[in-house]
Amino acid sequence: MYNEFDLTHSAYQPKQSGLSFPEAKNFSNVNDLRNELKRKLVIACRAFSYFKFDYGFAGHLTVRDPEHKNLYWTNPMAVHFKHVKTSNLILVDHDGSVVEGNHAVNRAGFVLHAAVHEKFPEIVAMCHAHTLYGTAFSSLGKKLDPISQDACAFYEDHNVITEESGAVAVSEDAGMNIANSFKDVKAVIHQNHGLVTMSKHSIDSAAFWFSALERCCHQELLTMSTGRPVKLVPHERAVYSRENVGSDYIGWLHFQPILDHLIATEKDMFE
Ligand SMILES: [Zn+2]
Repeated sequence: MYNEFDLTHSAYQPKQSGLSFPEAKNFSNVNDLRNELKRKLVIACRAFSYFKFDYGFAGHLTVRDPEHKNLYWTNPMAVHFKHVKTSNLILVDHDGSVVEGNHAVNRAGFVLHAAVHEKFPEIVAMCHAHTLYGTAFSSLGKKLDPISQDACAFYEDHNVITEESGAVAVSEDAGMNIANSFKDVKAVIHQNHGLVTMSKHSIDSAAFWFSALERCCHQELLTMSTGRPVKLVPHERAVYSRENVGSDYIGWLHFQPILDHLIATEKDMFE
């Protein structure tokens, strides 16, 4: 038996027996699980279009293959997130070589994904894009302040990378060093570049936390433009909020309404 994701309900959102509530699925074989992960990757790409996270061909989302753990499914290069579908996904290895699929991979952009996936086997999904507010915020070279409950989800759970900031592409040598900053956090702000999120359980969670991080960058930029917050959320409260509203499971749960909306409105995703 294969679980879709190793997810359990949290104390914050416990299972409500007998009532409709999103549940992770189980699969009897790895092929079915792979197909589900590919569908989820397509939905995550469509979500990036829905949120207007596109910038030309920039941006890549990856999901580790459930059987061949050194291979990752990702979106095809130079295809708009809106046009990603299961039939044009590509499977790539640590070196950025396409081993299945007909489209090219963004090799320059893939270096960091490959380094992180190689270094941390527990990370199963990553998202990166050049978004307006995330990239603007990244130029400040600072972490998010705990100015809201939303921002507390990232409190002491994200890092800022200054190495190779603003480079067109991270060099392979630097990739492994930079990858260290991805240990045990769900997000990274790469200075003068953009945002990266990752998940140990699901692309759903990585995609949702990406949208949340972009929104938090927007919130803090708005706040900075009008002055300073009266008060930051105190350390203990920020930690409590992160533990309750910032988990991988909560990210997965947040993504389910977006997923359901896209399945209802985007009819060509699984062609
Ligand atoms: Zn980039």
